[in-house]
Amino acid sequence: MGGSRYPDAVDIAIVGSGPTASAYARILSETAPGATIAMFEVGPTVSNPPGAHVKNIADPERRSLAQRASEGSGAGAETVSSPGAVKSGERRARPGTYLLPDGYVFPGEDGMPVAAMSSNVGGMAAHWTAACPRPAGKERIAFVPELDQLLDDASRLLGVTTHAFDGAPFSDLVRERLAAVADNGRKPAYRVQSMPLAVHRRDDGALMWSGSDVVMGDVTRENPHFNLFDESLVTRVLVAGGVAAGVEIQDRRSGETHQVAARYVVVGADALRTPQLLWASEIRPAALGRYLNDQAQVVFGSRLRDVSEGDSPADVQDAQGGLSAYSGVAWVPYTDEAPFHGQIMQLDASPVPLADDDPVVPGSIVGLGLFCAKDLQREDRVAFDDGARDSYGMPAMRIHYRLTERDHDVLERAKQEIVRLGKAVGEPLDERPFVLPPGSSLHYQGTTRMGATDDGESVCSPDSQVWEVPGLFVAGNGVIPTSTACNPTLTSVALAVRGARRIAGELTSSLLLSKSDNRMTK
Ligand code: FAD
Repeated sequence: MGGSRYPDAVDIAIVGSGPTASAYARILSETAPGATIAMFEVGPTVSNPPGAHVKNIADPERRSLAQRASEGSGAGAETVSSPGAVKSGERRARPGTYLLPDGYVFPGEDGMPVAAMSSNVGGMAAHWTAACPRPAGKERIAFVPELDQLLDDASRLLGVTTHAFDGAPFSDLVRERLAAVADNGRKPAYRVQSMPLAVHRRDDGALMWSGSDVVMGDVTRENPHFNLFDESLVTRVLVAGGVAAGVEIQDRRSGETHQVAARYVVVGADALRTPQLLWASEIRPAALGRYLNDQAQVVFGSRLRDVSEGDSPADVQDAQGGLSAYSGVAWVPYTDEAPFHGQIMQLDASPVPLADDDPVVPGSIVGLGLFCAKDLQREDRVAFDDGARDSYGMPAMRIHYRLTERDHDVLERAKQEIVRLGKAVGEPLDERPFVLPPGSSLHYQGTTRMGATDDGESVCSPDSQVWEVPGLFVAGNGVIPTSTACNPTLTSVALAVRGARRIAGELTSSLLLSKSDNRMTK
């Protein structure tokens, strides 16, 4: 161990421990069981098993501590627990995440005021809502022919189901009312339906939210050749002879720097910090950090009409994390004609104050959200300032971001649509829809985008291998090259499965070759 807690060399070094990095660990553990794997995560372990969703922590105080510990340099700042509550206009992060202190907006640009990150084992998936819709139409990646198969694999890894909220009061009613105004002219796959969620119910009825722990699975945790190192900042990807050769790590506990040699390096450090690490490593393809996109988000509240407490099942029990079984989630899928994606959540409390003598029937408050697909622009980017450092000592981020005229048109259409949907389910709680500040979706994409060819407009191949550095792979939403409105994690985990299989295939054939070489020299 060279006097440090790290090995001197491994087959694969993985940076980050979010769901996409974890998908690499899982697929490699399943398909290349002899390969040595080291995963490095800058943040602390905040849950058990490592990477588990913090909503699964029953004790509210311990849950809150886990969220705080995930907030990096932002820990201690006021947070805001639902997107709708951002309406106050205050610049606040969601629990478990933190915002950029500066460099998020420049004069004459929209910027991304609430671009956020999480620093903890499990990444943002220890805090997410777990909605896992599939991309459709132009959201899909035309040059990945087996995308559906990969999405099936990703659903398996994330434990996606549409049944977690079966029995939630009024969810059939919500879907029916939405369908009555939205389904006309849509093909069956695009009609209103239950949202696929990475959530399951334990035998005792409690809801369990999938985090990176579920993606890793027992096969990774029990792999004797897999090690996860928390509080370990990767400061540089090492390249020798033009190929990936390992990583340099700063042990956040001791402050010491170490190098670990690796045949393959996978960087899954989120869509802002993956390009940051490549930049810091002087791997700077023309498309690095470019085509940054976030899904502009419109929200609106409504209250189901014609329902009463008696209609709500009496035995619906509270689950942990403040989210209860009342919370059905409906999905209004994206279409190319209506390029927004609807996530309609039933709540058990109103986001706006109601009169004291007006009790809320559980499940009757409906929070509507539409995510819009961005008009992709090369100039929208996260850039890095070599002359300034972030709180970890990495090159500081500078975000340049604008909404185009087309983006504003789509937003206007989304606003009209959300009011139509809100009125269909009940009585609006808001006077008008609210457009959240850029960055609110927490779905940042495009910054290490894949392409069919190395034409200067992409960073990596369809296998997620960086064009200019063989052996270096990138993972995460940054790899998605299309303009999507649907929540991106299922897609980025699917792309990670493909990349991991590519590495496993190469490792297995090199192992077979070296075995046959040994036989020949005997
Ligand atoms: P992350 O999960 O962000 O993990 C990246 C990890 O890399 C982090 O832990 C970070 O600390 C680590 N890291 C960064 N730099 C370094 C470095 N230099 N060295 C070592 N480690 C490093 N998505 C959906 O699809 N559906 C949803 O419903 C949804 N809801 C969300 C709700 C909330 C409140 C939040 C916070 C997020 C939500 N998301 C949702 C987004 C989703 O969580 C992310 O898409 C997903 O976690 C991205 O996975 P990732 O592996 O690419 O990165």
